[in-house]
Amino acid sequence: MRILITNDDGIYSPGLQALAKAASKFGHVTVVAPDVEQSSMGHAVTHSRPLWYKKSLVSFPGDIEAFRVNGTPADCVALGTHLYANTDVVLSGINMGPNLGNSLWHSGTLAAAKQAVLLGIKGIALSTPVGDTVPDFDLLAPHVEKTLEELLKIPGLGLFNVNFPPNPTEIRWTKQSVRLYDGTILPGLDPMGRKHYWFTVTPLAPAEEDSDRWAVESGYVSITPLRLDLTDHAFLEVKQEDGKVVSSR
Ligand code: MN
Repeated sequence: MRILITNDDGIYSPGLQALAKAASKFGHVTVVAPDVEQSSMGHAVTHSRPLWYKKSLVSFPGDIEAFRVNGTPADCVALGTHLYANTDVVLSGINMGPNLGNSLWHSGTLAAAKQAVLLGIKGIALSTPVGDTVPDFDLLAPHVEKTLEELLKIPGLGLFNVNFPPNPTEIRWTKQSVRLYDGTILPGLDPMGRKHYWFTVTPLAPAEEDSDRWAVESGYVSITPLRLDLTDHAFLEVKQEDGKVVSSR
């Protein structure tokens, strides 16, 4: 199996090292990751300037080849799968910070996995919360391997979002939490006395049972199967029952 690994935290992230190490048990690994942090960039792609890649300045376990790209996570997948056209699966992470519920809309980690699926390749995003210290990736390693084992054996395309709590017990299949969040802008003053603003994300309600947020809060590894189709099928069905044409002369 040929595995391409990327992330949105950048080539120097310890989470990228941890994922490359775990993935190398399943096949041939190549790393193509952003040269600087690209968190919360979502599915941005670079179209108005050229992309380049260079050899990584940090080394990876074993004989893993690694490259840094002057672009976004989605760029890394597009360029990486162009250079390695026989890629079987793209893994993105392990992100330093959770990607749960509404954060999937702006996650660069998930966007890399989405880009893979857009190109006809299975995509898996992996994340874990981070506190004051680096996550214990050695403790997580057996859980990462078990999760990859489960997901890599699933045939065909697939888009999966995985989140590891700090000390997991078991793996659960979950749905995306869609509870609203406030997205409040908090004003402050910079050291020069000028106004500046911070975007904040605070969930407004407890997580729904069986959702991704609920699972990680309960100590479970969360795997959410996702799809690219954003269509509201229930709404569409009602409208189509009324008649396919919205208006006519
Ligand atoms: Mn990140």
